[in-house]
Amino acid sequence: MFDSLGNAQDAIAYLLARIEKDPQTNCWLWKLSVGNHGYGQCGWNGRMTTAHRLSHCIFKGDPGSLFVLHKCRNRRCCNPEHLYAGTQLDNFHDMLKDGTHVPPPKLKGEEVGNAALTDQEASEIKQSLLNGTSAVKLARKYDVSPATIGNIKKNKHYSHVEPFLPEHTKKVRGSVTKRQVTEVQARLSSGERNRAIAQDMNLNESTVSRIKLGRIKGD
Ligand SMILES: [Zn+2]
Repeated sequence: MFDSLGNAQDAIAYLLARIEKDPQTNCWLWKLSVGNHGYGQCGWNGRMTTAHRLSHCIFKGDPGSLFVLHKCRNRRCCNPEHLYAGTQLDNFHDMLKDGTHVPPPKLKGEEVGNAALTDQEASEIKQSLLNGTSAVKLARKYDVSPATIGNIKKNKHYSHVEPFLPEHTKKVRGSVTKRQVTEVQARLSSGERNRAIAQDMNLNESTVSRIKLGRIKGD
């Protein structure tokens, strides 16, 4: 699934920056968006996946067609020590064996019945706002009121969702804003690596390289 896991150190840094360790259980709790399945949601190398699956890929290898299951029964947990690859049947048997049932986490974002947007849409909107797209334009595109977009912008709604654009909607060559160029330049001069900047800002790595070379000024 992760044919393009990218630089392993970057992947580890990405994951570790988004978890908090529970000192009691030693669970690594995903701090960001949780889907209605109860698992942490994340974007890596332009793909949406679950946080615990990404963790398994990084630390224990790609589980292929198997499920990544929790020994600790905490679906938000990404501690590789608490994860194992197995079938859904293994999972079921384990649950019967230890008699545990984990209630789904508190509802937020798209899990609230009347939410107009999915978490993924909200994260796309956040990224588009960062890229300079107007609230009015986004409201039209996602068929919601500008106030809804405004609330996302102010982090009143979907505060658990982080900005993210899937690969195919990433900005193409040349179409970066001046603000993005300035940020890239600042991060480059502080010694950050191209790949890390590209991933963080949802830009192509080649775009970052071209900004470094002064070939893109932003528009
Ligand atoms: Zn755990």
